[in-house]
Amino acid sequence: MSIMVPSKTPALITPGRQALDSALYQLDQAAEHLGLDDGLRTVLATPRRSLTVSVPVRREDGRLSVVQGFRVQHNVSRGPAKGGIRFHPGTDIHEVTALAMWMTWKCALVGIPYGGAKGGVAVDPTGLTTRELERLTRRYVNEILPLIGPEKDIPAPDVGTDEQTMAWIMDTYSVSAGYSVPGVVTGKPTTLGGSLGRSGATSRGVQIATLAALGRSPEGATVAVQGFGKVGALAAQYLADAGCKVVAVSDITGAVYASAGLDIAGLRTWAAETGGVSGYRHADALPLDDLLELDVDVLVPAALEGAITEANAPRVRARLIVEGANGPTTPEADEILAANGATVVPDILANAGGVIVSYLEWVQNMQAYSWSSGEVEVKLRDLMESAFSEVKSMAAARGLTLRQAAHVIGVGRVAEAHQMRGLYP
Ligand code: NAD
Repeated sequence: MSIMVPSKTPALITPGRQALDSALYQLDQAAEHLGLDDGLRTVLATPRRSLTVSVPVRREDGRLSVVQGFRVQHNVSRGPAKGGIRFHPGTDIHEVTALAMWMTWKCALVGIPYGGAKGGVAVDPTGLTTRELERLTRRYVNEILPLIGPEKDIPAPDVGTDEQTMAWIMDTYSVSAGYSVPGVVTGKPTTLGGSLGRSGATSRGVQIATLAALGRSPEGATVAVQGFGKVGALAAQYLADAGCKVVAVSDITGAVYASAGLDIAGLRTWAAETGGVSGYRHADALPLDDLLELDVDVLVPAALEGAITEANAPRVRARLIVEGANGPTTPEADEILAANGATVVPDILANAGGVIVSYLEWVQNMQAYSWSSGEVEVKLRDLMESAFSEVKSMAAARGLTLRQAAHVIGVGRVAEAHQMRGLYP
């Protein structure tokens, strides 16, 4: 008796696989536009190095748990690999590969000399004590040690990781090297060589991209932000500071709404004290997914991939979507939003502020020198605004969406680097 195995059982189509399919589709569209040959397309579609590791962790009660970790270097043709490390139970090798690929195009698009990488550990960090998290981080870093280094591959924070995680990574790497190596990670605490302005850099970039795309005064423009973590909370704050009315925000605990505008500073304090936005007294509760469909001027998805899909895209009413998260909009949703006349500022442009200031941090570390927050902010603004206007001009000149234009520029630069370097041997 033969057993029929469907080629794609639902259980195998993880959110990570969907993210990778989206990334490959976007690459394909850009490659088609650029007329790249099949060989080069295959090179660009394939990660240069992928490492899967097992990370044993001793729990407080003496038990031993083993979790899977990943580090993927998608491309290093333009410089060392660069990309965050995510601690999330749903992460897998496909998701990490997609995120690494987006990092490659993002660095090329904003003109910083890096390739793309990403790391992940399939774990829920909220279920671990601080000491368990430290042991997990150090052991994961030890397992990926052959790949990382200030001239090879430089991690940074992402979902579920923060400055403390980066400090442990820097220490673990430095202990192994025998001397302090601050340039091995970015997003570190400033006492360890972190850059002024790094912690708010992604959100500042989201603010710059939003104001550039808005096409009107920000005063009173209504905004909804999905995700109230490192990116979303400060994006909401900076948009409110610019005069926007942030009427709704959400995190994994729930969504809150106030038609007169939320007090974002008060909400940040509430979320820090209680662990989430849910229950905030000066706002109404909202079903989590309703936030995406609110009648607002600007929607900022700043949580995870796959938030806007073909299922909810027809009900998205915001005219401007600014992707603080990586991969929040699926290609099917993209088409629906474009057909409905909405503008999407794509992830590889909108959230590039983080890697821009990470680059500035690394440059400061390599020179053992530090810049003022004002100097960092000027450089960030320069790079964001020039990338934005390049993407906008390319989109207008060639009749592309902002995402297509951003990918054509990013993929085109990486393809050119490959062609100039030639193939070894
Ligand atoms: P984080 O872990 O600090 O925050 C993630 C937030 O999303 C949390 O508030 C969480 O509760 C919320 N969330 C998760 N699922 C949700 C859901 N279904 N609905 C509403 N909220 C939900 O992570 P972060 O660093 O802020 O990253 C967020 C996104 O931005 C990710 O896509 C990440 O890759 C991207 N990004 C981060 C940086 C950075 O510098 N941290 C840079 C570029 C891009």
